[in-house]
Amino acid sequence: MLSSSQSDQKAATGQGNLVVISGPSGTGKTSICNLLLERLPNAVWSVSATTRPLRGGEAEGSSYEYIAPDDFERRRANGEFLESAEYCGHWYGTPVAPVKRWIDDGKIVITEIDVQGGVQIAKHMPNSCRIFVLPPDFESLKARLEGRKTESADIMARRLQKADGEIAIARDSGCYQHFVTNDVLDDTVDEIIGIITKS
Ligand code: 5GP
Repeated sequence: MLSSSQSDQKAATGQGNLVVISGPSGTGKTSICNLLLERLPNAVWSVSATTRPLRGGEAEGSSYEYIAPDDFERRRANGEFLESAEYCGHWYGTPVAPVKRWIDDGKIVITEIDVQGGVQIAKHMPNSCRIFVLPPDFESLKARLEGRKTESADIMARRLQKADGEIAIARDSGCYQHFVTNDVLDDTVDEIIGIITKS
């Protein structure tokens, strides 16, 4: 298997690459990723592992691999994640093995991760393409999160509270090469495809 730096060199040659899509909860990252997978023939989806419970509309193995906290910790200690982070009381991580295999196969690997994960990826895979999605404004973020009706009011409030801090970390860390405002979904996806195909 390739080491992270070897995978990253391969990414730099255009044989495959890791694309990181980050942004506050409710910015439309999942819709963006779904359309990227539809429109980029060479793209594959990196299924993250998480300790959070299954949410309405999600399916085991396609949205996430849902695992117990002790299983997550064991795998993390074993070095099975490319990056991992705690978000609103639950752990999330990107399994390293499929990512390396796909990059080796020349695929565009799409991963939707939080800003802490983006910072880790920037360090370990500097040639990856890292995009931070911004909401047009706070009101639309709130409206999207409320419209989802998949979270309790308490969880929604926590996620909204985090948004400003996440945007500040993304900007101050210098870990994201691209910032894209998701106003009209189709336009956003076109813009991101332009970025990915040039990177
Ligand atoms: P949600 O619970 O809404 O699916 O995800 C919560 C946050 O965790 C989102 O910002 C999402 O992008 C992020 N996330 C999902 N998978 C991963 C992962 O594998 N690693 C990291 N660091 N964050 C993740």
